[in-house]
Amino acid sequence: MIQKTVIVRPERCVGCMQCMIRCAEAHSQSKALASAIREPILAKPRIHLGVGPEGRPFPSKCRHCEPAPCQDACMPWAIRDDISPGLKIVDPTRCIGCGMCAMSCPYYVIRFYRDAAAPERPGVAVKCDGCHERVAAGGIPACVTACKTGALAFEEVNLYLKEGTNRLANAVYGVRI
Ligand code: SF4
Ligand code: SF4
Repeated sequence: MIQKTVIVRPERCVGCMQCMIRCAEAHSQSKALASAIREPILAKPRIHLGVGPEGRPFPSKCRHCEPAPCQDACMPWAIRDDISPGLKIVDPTRCIGCGMCAMSCPYYVIRFYRDAAAPERPGVAVKCDGCHERVAAGGIPACVTACKTGALAFEEVNLYLKEGTNRLANAVYGVRI
């Protein structure tokens, strides 16, 4: 796992779907919502909202596993780890749409759509690419930018886990934080 990643705090999610909208926008050709919705091949979100008990939303995206079951299952080597360190990124020009990656992913975060980067193909695997180009340019992932409740944050993994350790310690002593 990379040290800084998108941390999900599902208890803060209100199901507004802004993360999905901004993700699709960020992966469109024009990178602007007003024109993105008129592109011939619509960009799709790479983060998804699951619905839990009482309709509670659960934002879920690729965890960029290491080793990655999807990558191991992909025969044409379309899930690459040589594009950005720590990220498993689909190369749509190599994807044959066989679905093996999606069947191997324990988190159900892969979908199949047409992709403007390989327009001749009827459907290729589409999943989170860590917004690697935005991050390389000093930005943060689009879903995090969109989320106003703090359900998504771009943080150091170990700092987040330290926070969890403190929560556990407080729970042990009966303190709610
Ligand atoms: S698509 Fe699934 S299996 Fe592949 S890296 Fe992401 S979470 Fe892991
Ligand atoms: S933007 Fe944040 S609050 Fe809204 S659906 Fe996505 S994760 Fe939930």
